[in-house]
Amino acid sequence: MMFVKTKKTTTPNVMSNILLHSLPTANYLTNPKPQNSSISFHISYSSPTNSSFSFLCEHSSSKQEQTQKCKDGLNLNFIRASKLLKDLSTWGIGGPCNYFVQVHNQTQLVSAIRYCHEHSIRFIIIGKGSNCLFDDLGFDGCVILNRIEFLESNEPGIYRVGSGFRFNKLGMQCSNEGFTGLEFAGGIPGTVGGATYMNAGANGQETADVVDSVEIVKNDGRFQMLNRIDLKFGYRTSPFKSMKDLGSIVAVMFKLQPSGSAKRRLQEYLERRRVSQPIGERSAGSVFRNPPNLGIAAAELIEKAGLKGFRVGGAMVSNIHANFFINSGGSTSQDMLDLIAFVKEKVDQKFGVQLKEEVLYVHPYCNDLNPNRDK
Ligand SMILES: Cc1cc2nc3c(=O)[nH]c(=O)nc-3n(C[C@H](O)[C@H](O)[C@H](O)COP(=O)(O)OP(=O)(O)OC[C@H]3O[C@@H](n4cnc5c(N)ncnc54)[C@H](O)[C@@H]3O)c2cc1C
Repeated sequence: MMFVKTKKTTTPNVMSNILLHSLPTANYLTNPKPQNSSISFHISYSSPTNSSFSFLCEHSSSKQEQTQKCKDGLNLNFIRASKLLKDLSTWGIGGPCNYFVQVHNQTQLVSAIRYCHEHSIRFIIIGKGSNCLFDDLGFDGCVILNRIEFLESNEPGIYRVGSGFRFNKLGMQCSNEGFTGLEFAGGIPGTVGGATYMNAGANGQETADVVDSVEIVKNDGRFQMLNRIDLKFGYRTSPFKSMKDLGSIVAVMFKLQPSGSAKRRLQEYLERRRVSQPIGERSAGSVFRNPPNLGIAAAELIEKAGLKGFRVGGAMVSNIHANFFINSGGSTSQDMLDLIAFVKEKVDQKFGVQLKEEVLYVHPYCNDLNPNRDK
């Protein structure tokens, strides 16, 4: 496991959809030494009960990985160097995070979550970062990169999949094996965990349609198995978004039906994407949800408002798909936020429609659990 410590930053004046698996307030006092060779810094935390504790971290650039023993006896590798969120997001935007850790199995995931919980470090789990807008200021907490990538199938059409497994790979495998329900996933560059959290969908299919059960771990490290019947999904939303004590989705069981045409459908959907989306550009998919009960897509409204190709700095409305905003090179998070705000305003002025973001903005100092998320 690898943790990264970075500088303290100030809160930007921007609010949009905010997401976080948050923990109590943490106050950071950072005193880096001026030279690159060796940096030490002191971190102090305040717990909600006002009991505070502190520890000293030492960083040497010659040795950026260290092994640290956690309470549960696991040896964890902590990296203490700048990990840039732009390298973890498809938009290619985002500054450094204070701590970074990559997990490859359930035990590591639980240890990382427990560690953050016990040390009052706010944290966020990410998969491929394909639906997140990170801030240039970074994230004042721990980013847990999920790479739990197993897939088990003991019965035809039943797949138990690690939450870090690539969703597009799963879609292709199931369709090629002759099962229907995840053909749409073939073109979605996220993970199973991200897709379940977002209830990703396309082409009239969505993740929730084929979920049978979800295994989660809570903030305090406890496991829970949730059956589909107890989970209320909606359009691009899931009950996980409002689960205050959610640590992470660990694995998902999918139940698919046999179909002779799934493979062909998958290819059709992929071809449709190839001609209608800016494949190869840096994007986060659709920026806005389609407005409910209007019979018109967000992309069409943006296009009709004459905004295709409109840009703010390095952020641009795609000329190919108006609901895809691309980082055409050097876009800052503020460029993207300004572009989103501008497009919202124009569409509202012209059509009286208030678009709502599908992408999630990760606030650098969010202490609350996604306060702007679906009510
Ligand atoms: C080119 C392109 C095309 C796209 N097309 C589509 C599309 O057709 N349909 C669609 O719905 N979306 C689409 N997307 C958006 C995105 O790929 C999906 O929402 C995807 O499911 C996000 O997965 P991720 O792993 O990247 O999530 P991330 O962006 O890493 O995270 C998204 C959210 O999920 C949470 N999360 C991630 N993993 C976990 C976990 N294990 N446990 C708990 N919470 C977790 C994160 O904390 C965050 O809140 C597209 C994106 C791109 C770039």
